[in-house]
Amino acid sequence: MQAKTDVLIVGAGPTGLSAALFLLDQGHRVRLIDRRSEPSSFSKAFGVNARTLDLLSASGVSESFIANGRKLERINIRRRGKVLGTLQLDDVADEYPFLCVQSQADSERILTEAVQERSGVVERGVELTNLEQGDAGVEVTTRSSSGEQVILASTVFGADGATSTVRNLLGVDFEGTTYPEPWQLFDVELETPLPPDEANIFLLADGGMFVVRHAGNLWRVLGSGADLLGALPAGTKIGPVHWESSFQVSNRVAAKFSHGRVHLGGDAAHTHAGIGARGMNLGIEDAFVFATLFDQGRLKDYEHLRRPIVQKVVREITRMMMVPRSQTLPGRIVRAVPAIVGVVLPLARTRIQPWLLGLDHEIHLRH
Ligand SMILES: Cc1cc2nc3c(=O)[nH]c(=O)nc-3n(C[C@H](O)[C@H](O)[C@H](O)COP(=O)(O)OP(=O)(O)OC[C@H]3O[C@@H](n4cnc5c(N)ncnc54)[C@H](O)[C@@H]3O)c2cc1C
Repeated sequence: MQAKTDVLIVGAGPTGLSAALFLLDQGHRVRLIDRRSEPSSFSKAFGVNARTLDLLSASGVSESFIANGRKLERINIRRRGKVLGTLQLDDVADEYPFLCVQSQADSERILTEAVQERSGVVERGVELTNLEQGDAGVEVTTRSSSGEQVILASTVFGADGATSTVRNLLGVDFEGTTYPEPWQLFDVELETPLPPDEANIFLLADGGMFVVRHAGNLWRVLGSGADLLGALPAGTKIGPVHWESSFQVSNRVAAKFSHGRVHLGGDAAHTHAGIGARGMNLGIEDAFVFATLFDQGRLKDYEHLRRPIVQKVVREITRMMMVPRSQTLPGRIVRAVPAIVGVVLPLARTRIQPWLLGLDHEIHLRH
């Protein structure tokens, strides 16, 4: 049996859900499939930036994010007990001069509700296993508990994450580097003297560590040092760990974002270190650009409008990663002369602020 649709979105993470939302608001027929039978409950991306809030405001989703989450306006850079510098975000001229802190599970829940309010359906337990492009469209084979189905889609948006089946079936390389050193993540209950509404970046002897409160006394501790919990400031009491993960960072960009009628977005098109909380946010921006160009009949422009922007952000993150990587030259200099942070931060403030808020580039979509 063959079913037909305008756009088939593969993957109901933040990128796929946002693409569905934007397309439904433009009046298009959309199918959204995900191989997982349940949404992910992991907190993963906890920083929603101003660009994302700008893009989602027309749908009302931004207001729901802000009502659910918490505003983060100050980031301190610390070495041992000392604050070396503080970055404020609240003087940036934008409607949303802050990062909205909430777990990715909450972001996905709110996006799913918005899709459902527009009569969209998230088809769970449905996995893409093959695709073939022809004159009539893209024939996508899916597998679910009710067997195989073939869907004929005029356009496919592959938002199926870093190990993307869509990207692999297209034979598109995922170009870049995977770094050998392990990074660790803890969502952990803390009693700590750290200010509860500010984020903290610690320079450690053997790496770097990011510490921010989720909600209540649950904190995210993330970084590249060997003993992150042991490096928390004096007076911190460590409670139960809710989620613990160890992973290697990959900074990679797909060699092509578009291949005929099939386009890639989100982690399927790019992954990188969590520095700057850009991953999920860039994926939501991909979804906005994809949906707008689809609506305008201009998907041929997706590759050249999107890929250079993503490449630039990933290049910048790769450069910034040298600081937490303690053996690099910039990493060694900052550790030897930490006072340099207090000098450089005020000078670089007007470049770092828009970068952290995702406002470091324009989205050029005019004809
Ligand atoms: C610890 C951690 C912290 C992070 N912090 C941040 C942060 O603060 N800010 C930020 O912006 N980003 C952050 N990120 C990155 C962020 O989580 C990802 O960039 C984001 O999840 C990407 O969304 P996505 O929708 O592109 O892909 P995913 O979230 O990976 O979703 C892909 C979906 O596709 C489905 N799928 C896969 N294959 C198939 C198939 N063959 N058929 C059907 N469905 C399929 C999967 O089940 C999944 O639901 C963090 C990531 C981690 C791990």
